[in-house]
Amino acid sequence: MPRFDTDVVHAGRDDLAALGVHAPPIDLSTTYPVHDLEAGTASFDALVGGEASAANPIYARLHNPTVARVEQALATLEGTEACVAFASGMAALTAVLMARRAHGGHVLVVRPLYGTSDHLLASGLCGMEAEFVDADEIAGRRRPDTALVIIETPANPTLDLVDIRAAVEASGGVPVLVDSTFATPVLQNPAAFGARYVLHSATKFLGGHGDVIAGVVCCADEDAKPLRTVRAATGGLLHPLAAYLLHRGLPTLALRVERAQANAESIARRLAAHPGVARVFHPGLGTVRNAGLCRSQMRGAGCLVAFELADGHAAAAAVMRAVRLITPAVSLGSVDSLIQHPAGLTHRVVSPADQQAHGITPGLMRMSVGIEHVEDVWADLEQALAQASSVRERDAA
Ligand SMILES: *Cc1c(COP(=O)(O)O)cnc(C)c1O
Repeated sequence: MPRFDTDVVHAGRDDLAALGVHAPPIDLSTTYPVHDLEAGTASFDALVGGEASAANPIYARLHNPTVARVEQALATLEGTEACVAFASGMAALTAVLMARRAHGGHVLVVRPLYGTSDHLLASGLCGMEAEFVDADEIAGRRRPDTALVIIETPANPTLDLVDIRAAVEASGGVPVLVDSTFATPVLQNPAAFGARYVLHSATKFLGGHGDVIAGVVCCADEDAKPLRTVRAATGGLLHPLAAYLLHRGLPTLALRVERAQANAESIARRLAAHPGVARVFHPGLGTVRNAGLCRSQMRGAGCLVAFELADGHAAAAAVMRAVRLITPAVSLGSVDSLIQHPAGLTHRVVSPADQQAHGITPGLMRMSVGIEHVEDVWADLEQALAQASSVRERDAA
């Protein structure tokens, strides 16, 4: 079997040689001719029933070959039989909830997690009752109607790590979904530890260039079928142009993550020594919950750094204003560095009490470190921190 660094370049491209092309073709058809009605009916039934492909794609909500290629690539990278791609990470999570609803109405969710995931679950919009627990409470809170356990590791925004193996064990056969967006398949393969669903917001590192919104769920084929059925029924499709861009970015995934990870560790160390910074959260510094898992369950500490400014919200606002090279924006995993303020942006939808309980303080900033030269990134961050402290000095005067 090829190694990861080879798969990341070649996966999902198996049919290209036979097609006589080098780059994946983009199929934009919304519908496909059906001259043989019997065969068309069989294809229709197969696709609506959740099969990955059929002789005739019939209609683009049922199947698209450009999307199927990137799905195959991501299944290979996660070591799962299948992958189902959606219009966004949130569409992917919604589909899993809808598919699991048939197995019971209760879902256990380990906080903290991505703000909108938290909001979707807490709102009960998908007809599931979400109970928020700590990882060590999973076994005790399981009910006969518990249909899913959800964990996110590394977690957003504090980069706490959750032991996937332990969560699977505690779930006692209830399927575990791991949101592995922050890790990417370069650093972590949750299915190897027993996770049934591996979810990525492919908008982040997998896309990698800030120009694609997408979500994927990697899982066994048996679990993928209901997801395809939900996708066909609800229409949360990944557009083939977006699928092409996603696939286009994958060959550099390992290189991007390795470089950004080295930069992130360097930035984390410098932040830890900076007088304007009260705390730094980075698995590589050992300053997050279960940090040791970044060596056992992961193959590195990742590309994100969170830090708390000593001067709280005003200092965070000053940093957002002052950065020049680093983009002050939500999202993460792009080739360029991004910085944002979770309490004011991504985690607005989480109640103030829950923000407080999970370390989302007024001075907390989250940075997704890019692949630029680290000295240029640090120079920009350092001048922004200096402006933040001059705001404080002005306020004090
Ligand atoms: C961004 C993100 C999501 C949601 O993905 P979208 O593609 O924005 O819908 C879910 N989980 C995590 C960890 C994320 O970072």
